[in-house]
Amino acid sequence: MEKVLLIVVLFSLFKPVLLEKGSFWQVTDFHYDKTYQSPTDPGKICNSQTPFSQTPSHAGKWGNYLCDSPWRLINSSVYAMKSIEPNPDFIIWTGDDMPHVPNSQLSTEEVIETVKNLTDLLSAAFPNTTVYPALGNHDYHPKHLMPPKPNDIYRAVGNLWSRWLPHDAVNTFKEGGFYTVLIKPGLRLVSLNTVYYYTNDKLTESIADPAGQFEWLDVLLTNASRNNEKVFIIGHVPPGAFERAPGKKWFYPKFNKDYLAAIMKHADVITGHFLAHQHCDSFKILYDCKGIPTSSIFLCPAVTPWKTVLPTVGYNNPGIRLYKYDRSTMNVKDVWQYFTNLTLANTMSEPDWVLEYKVTEAFRIPDVSPKSLHSLVETFKTQGSSNFVKYYLYNSVSAGGEQCDEECKTAQICGITEVDFDKYDVCVSPSTSSSPLKAATVSVYVAILVLWSLSVIISKN
Ligand SMILES: [Zn+2]
Ligand SMILES: [Zn+2]
Repeated sequence: MEKVLLIVVLFSLFKPVLLEKGSFWQVTDFHYDKTYQSPTDPGKICNSQTPFSQTPSHAGKWGNYLCDSPWRLINSSVYAMKSIEPNPDFIIWTGDDMPHVPNSQLSTEEVIETVKNLTDLLSAAFPNTTVYPALGNHDYHPKHLMPPKPNDIYRAVGNLWSRWLPHDAVNTFKEGGFYTVLIKPGLRLVSLNTVYYYTNDKLTESIADPAGQFEWLDVLLTNASRNNEKVFIIGHVPPGAFERAPGKKWFYPKFNKDYLAAIMKHADVITGHFLAHQHCDSFKILYDCKGIPTSSIFLCPAVTPWKTVLPTVGYNNPGIRLYKYDRSTMNVKDVWQYFTNLTLANTMSEPDWVLEYKVTEAFRIPDVSPKSLHSLVETFKTQGSSNFVKYYLYNSVSAGGEQCDEECKTAQICGITEVDFDKYDVCVSPSTSSSPLKAATVSVYVAILVLWSLSVIISKN
């Protein structure tokens, strides 16, 4: 009996610590264009066709890089998620449902109708999975002008999402377009309405805290910390600058500062931060005052392949993303990016959705913690870094074949590592020695100089 007891005690002490791996999907920026292949202007292939672009001779069954998504591409992306991982712990859906067309072609009713169609599609494909959505800057009419108060769209969309969200979350959503949900004991999700901070939202610029979201977030994160909960933040527009468009900042400067301060204050509670909007595949690292990588933001690429008018950005292949996380610590462990090559898809009866890369395998890092992401970005700085070449290809979801020169690379690295606008400006400035590439180049010169001096000393001896 004593022996049995001893074995039980020993087993309970030394039982193997199993990593409880869970997974969840992020899908974003569907930008549904119902006019694909039936545009108002017969000289185009869709109403969202990239301005000033030449109309291609063939539109393509599954979509075109100059247009937002036809329904069949959206449907295919959601059913690809289902066939790859039909039982995720949950799904996050981070907004931008409407096409890039003038406001005159849209209406409040149409926004609600499109959100309903996409909500129904995700529900039908994943009847037993909870979807946690967020609104994007295109999910309002007129686009971007999200008012920090209740309105018809918050009310109608709140009702649509009541199939996934509890009553109190729906009520909060109807007030300001944001909410929180306890996903399970120990893991809380916060869906933010970051459209309020976007410089295109002209209704919020003069408000200190639009819809009281910052104050609400601070209380919520303080309580989460007290209750030993970890928090995943989801939303649409990211803080910081667009790594693919030098100097392009999304937030009003004061909101960028406030957002960064709010996140850094509670960095130990926030174990996942998932945004979108840029349509590109990237991430951001947040550092504490001592320069320690403390928090990160994952930026998920879009389903729409639409070529933006920003000159250095271009188009992307449609992507869907699966995260792997540890169900006990709530730490994100890996990112598995799936995509379909649109050119190839258009030669086939059905698109082929394949794994593009797994972050830990492609870059040989143990996980996707802020520390590991920081060590990865350090490798980008060396001349001809193969990791950077890979990252840059994935940045466009393997669509772009163009080169990234030194200015482009600096903008990429500064966009990832400097979310604070002032620090970003210093980082990208050609006249400063703190530019990451310049710093790397200087180190190489210093090393050569030291070696040369040593060889002179040795040869003299
Ligand atoms: Zn978008
Ligand atoms: Zn957006």
